[in-house]
Amino acid sequence: MSYRIAVRALCEFAAKRGDLDLRFTPSPSAQEGIAGHQLVGERRGERYEREIALNGAYRHLEVRGRADGYDPDANRLEEIKTHRGDLSRQPANQRALHWAQAKVYGHLLCAERGLDQLTVTLVYFDIVSQRETPLSERCSAEALRAEFDAHCQAFLAWAQQELAHRRRRDRALQALRFPYAGFREGQRPLAESVYKAIHTRRWLMLQAPTGIGKTLGTLFPMLKAMPGEPLDKIFFLTARNTGQRLALDALRTLGAGQRHREIPEPEHLEPDDIGSGDIGSGDIGSGDAEPNDSRSGDSRLSEVQAVPLRVLTLTSRDKSCEHPDKACHGESCPLAAGFYDRLPAARKAAVERGWLDRAALRETALAHEICPYYLGQEMARWADVVIGDVNYWFDFHAMLYALSQQQQWRVGLLVDEAHNLVERGRGMYSATLDHAAFRRLKPTLPAPLKRPFSRVASAWRALADDSESDYRVLETLPGKLIGALQQAVSQVVEYQSEQPIALDSELQRFAFDAQHFCRVADVFGDHSICDVSPQAPRGRQRQAGARVTLRNVVPAPFLTPRFVAAQGGTLFSATLAPEAYYRDLLGVPDDAPWMSLASPFRDSQLEVRIAARLSTRYADREASLTPLADRIAAQFRACRGNYLAFFSSFAYLEQVADRLAERHPEIPIWRQASRMDDDARETFLRRFEANGEGVGFAVLGGIFGEGIDLPGDRLIGAFVATLGLPQVNPVNEQMRARLQALYGHGYDYAYFFPGMQKVVQAAGRVIRSGTDEGVIHLLDDRFARRESQALLPDWWPKPIKD
Ligand code: SF4
Repeated sequence: MSYRIAVRALCEFAAKRGDLDLRFTPSPSAQEGIAGHQLVGERRGERYEREIALNGAYRHLEVRGRADGYDPDANRLEEIKTHRGDLSRQPANQRALHWAQAKVYGHLLCAERGLDQLTVTLVYFDIVSQRETPLSERCSAEALRAEFDAHCQAFLAWAQQELAHRRRRDRALQALRFPYAGFREGQRPLAESVYKAIHTRRWLMLQAPTGIGKTLGTLFPMLKAMPGEPLDKIFFLTARNTGQRLALDALRTLGAGQRHREIPEPEHLEPDDIGSGDIGSGDIGSGDAEPNDSRSGDSRLSEVQAVPLRVLTLTSRDKSCEHPDKACHGESCPLAAGFYDRLPAARKAAVERGWLDRAALRETALAHEICPYYLGQEMARWADVVIGDVNYWFDFHAMLYALSQQQQWRVGLLVDEAHNLVERGRGMYSATLDHAAFRRLKPTLPAPLKRPFSRVASAWRALADDSESDYRVLETLPGKLIGALQQAVSQVVEYQSEQPIALDSELQRFAFDAQHFCRVADVFGDHSICDVSPQAPRGRQRQAGARVTLRNVVPAPFLTPRFVAAQGGTLFSATLAPEAYYRDLLGVPDDAPWMSLASPFRDSQLEVRIAARLSTRYADREASLTPLADRIAAQFRACRGNYLAFFSSFAYLEQVADRLAERHPEIPIWRQASRMDDDARETFLRRFEANGEGVGFAVLGGIFGEGIDLPGDRLIGAFVATLGLPQVNPVNEQMRARLQALYGHGYDYAYFFPGMQKVVQAAGRVIRSGTDEGVIHLLDDRFARRESQALLPDWWPKPIKD
């Protein structure tokens, strides 16, 4: 069995040495890179060959890649690298890596065409000045082969252990059995659908209610499909950290992270046996309808075989940085100095460990004195299951997506709480420039940057002068401002590359924001709007043109290619309806089926009441305070226990909480604050103890509105005031208008569906298992309307209107 590797990956593994160095040197965007390569190609003669596919072998290593160009007349192979800024400041280890790549291509070309010598040229193309800097070396075929062999030799032992791991992993996954005596109600069709989707290389949109055991029910079939499809990796992506913990728990239950005992290779475990046909009971296990809810206490865990699965959790840089006061390069941070020299030993220790949750990854990195965050990025290459935020696949610069493209991995994706992808996707493809941050920079700007920044200032001023003091949507992009920003970013790069110390952090942040703004501007279209608003920091005067935003409304055009790039996957959530709304805004491929699974809960577990004569509309807020407080108190007295009360804003929350405290001071209450760290969040949740009594006040769509689990009598009821509609303001009105123009459903897409989705999520906190019972109060007359009730879960009982 041979091991395939891309030229770039081989060189990064075998030839990268020295420090990690991530000073602010914004590399050209993908589009700029492609355009740069094209331009260089166009400057060459007619016989110039571009994008030459090459491959070669060293023992059982198969090395592949595409050389950028070959000039047969000059017998010159070119490796083109686009860049910005002063080339002389390029770190030596980066240059060495580029040479290594160019020479490997050189060897592959010589071997394929029988050349005995070749000129190998690194062409550095500056995307700003459009100047080329060629660096050439005349090489014999023999010397190139020797270099190629040396790299391959360095990788070979690793490749062998990778192949052995893959064999062990796949064998264990073929033998994997569902860890419980049976599936929960609804879990088997869930698992079958996920399996079928990946087997038919499609996406699945799955609305699966709470209580089915979604995390285990999606991971299990995906793992079962891994050997047969075959998949290189599974990425389990979440929009919130809580989902990550559940995924780790499910993987543990399935046998990952435990000491592995080698499974003999019996005849019936041939690779093609599993996953080649329809999923049957032999593929995902037996389906007696036994519950596997460990909370209910009647689950029966089967004997679980350990599975040699490498599991990695990716954590953001902010959370995993050990030296937040330092910059990511060897002169500043001790964990960046010599990073690549110590990486091989750390990498070896990490794969031996296999289970790399946040704590284990940190421990391994620190034992080898390297940065945990960047070790995590490296280990994404060697892990089987990666758990991380959705931005690792869907964002502009998504690391997992980029690596998968580069390495041509076959990837299966599971996207948890997928309803969040609409808002998260919008955030990824939007950009804002804030004049207050820009103004703060001015007095501290170094001399060489004053002129480019004053050009930005005057372009910004002209934009503000054109604006009245209120919110305004621009018909066309502010070209002058964007041009000035691009220039300023280039100058910052150049300036940075000449400085021995890191940039001032405010300047660096502004430069990153400006660069992101320019990139979003590059891909601007009718999926987005560009607006200028007078928003100013609190206490300051409103200022015309203070904030310029490229605001994505429909992330679909950006997300579709990311769906297509995976082998297939499942988007799942308890609230993924209406189908058309999510289809339109997420851009899921047309052939992706949408399905909704029935809830395992009985309508007798829940009582739903609608306050059909109460209005929580903005104009009626003041009048609603006393009725709301009294209604909460009446329910509390009728059935004492823990409740959650949700409101559309902190202001409304505070008003009702104050009124309740004033009129019913004996009822214990606690409130969500607008900024809560992890400890404060935990303290809030700890108040919901079993047999406890009181009312927690929270905001709809906030950190307690979804993703929290308070089973049994930790929570016996919820109050939801308002329909959760986003505020009517100029921005949301623009979004409505754009959605109306694109889909003909402006109000529903901008206000009604997102609002009701928050309501259902919040109310969904009440019933978490087959034994929970509770009550939901929907507090607004509009909940009594047919269109609102059509968006409530099917299994809910008919609401009582009072
Ligand atoms: S520890 Fe922090 S500063 Fe150091 S390399 Fe890692 S992320 Fe950068």
